[in-house]
Amino acid sequence: MAKKKSEAESNEIEAVDLISLLSTPETTDSYEIELSVPEQDIDLIALGKEELKEEAEKLAKAKAVIPNREIRPTVPQKVISSPSSLPPSSLSPSQSFITPTKTTSIAKPKVASPKPINRLDSLQGYENDSFEQIIKDISVCQKCGLCKTRKNVVPGIGNTKAKLVLIGEAPGADEDIQGKPFVGKAGQHLDKILAAAGFKKDELYICNILKCRPPNNRDPNIDEMRVCTPFLQRQLALIKPKLIGCLGNIACHYVIGPSMPGITRLRGQWFDSIFGIPTFAMYHPSYLIRSASREKGSPNWQMWQDIRALKARYDEL
Ligand code: URA
Repeated sequence: MAKKKSEAESNEIEAVDLISLLSTPETTDSYEIELSVPEQDIDLIALGKEELKEEAEKLAKAKAVIPNREIRPTVPQKVISSPSSLPPSSLSPSQSFITPTKTTSIAKPKVASPKPINRLDSLQGYENDSFEQIIKDISVCQKCGLCKTRKNVVPGIGNTKAKLVLIGEAPGADEDIQGKPFVGKAGQHLDKILAAAGFKKDELYICNILKCRPPNNRDPNIDEMRVCTPFLQRQLALIKPKLIGCLGNIACHYVIGPSMPGITRLRGQWFDSIFGIPTFAMYHPSYLIRSASREKGSPNWQMWQDIRALKARYDEL
């Protein structure tokens, strides 16, 4: 008994120590500023309430723009015994709401319909596709106005046979210059988090919802996401990852579903996704570097729990 307690304590110390190794923000990287992330620690509960309001507004907007995209219920990992054993479509409607984890209590999101939707998860029919072709197509893409302001396209980087794909939002200034995702301050923070959890970056594939930088790092708009995400779909169809990790609100809301609450409520949980691949919600590293606190319960501390949970599931593959 006494041994158990000291193990628990030492785990906790280890977690806190490792987090404190991760850099503290001293950055004025424009990407983070444009994200309007709060300077100081946030009241997560208050933020959650605020986000719910925002989500309702966003949802109404998204539904107006994409009328044929119904809201798909999402499924937490604990409902699915193993990723391949139970196809999402076999879940009953009652299983399809997110359920609170033991650490968070989450209001049931309103789900428009239990019917399966026009999903993007038909990751079939891409047998003749190739990464070379995808990159070529992205490079000449003019489907939205971002082609006029981009310096470089940012298709993605990493292992094209990765079991885990991490998806961010959109390239920032550094990524636009280098043509690679997550190479700026946020990327450096992500590297530290991944390394601390024991991930080797070259085992993963990392990309974004958008392949071009939005001017001044504004949020991607619905039209940009609509025309750009077929590239993501093609990437996933070729990689065939077993797991997806979504970094931040934008990626979560696109991949998991627009009806979901904000990231402070989603994080640390597994969901079914529009691609039919188990998807884990995490904070965006830009958000984390704006939050100086490493205290228990802080976003950085939560991220540390989350990345280890992701690694544990990854290690089971
Ligand atoms: N933020 C993102 O979401 N993606 C990047 O590539 C860089 C910063």
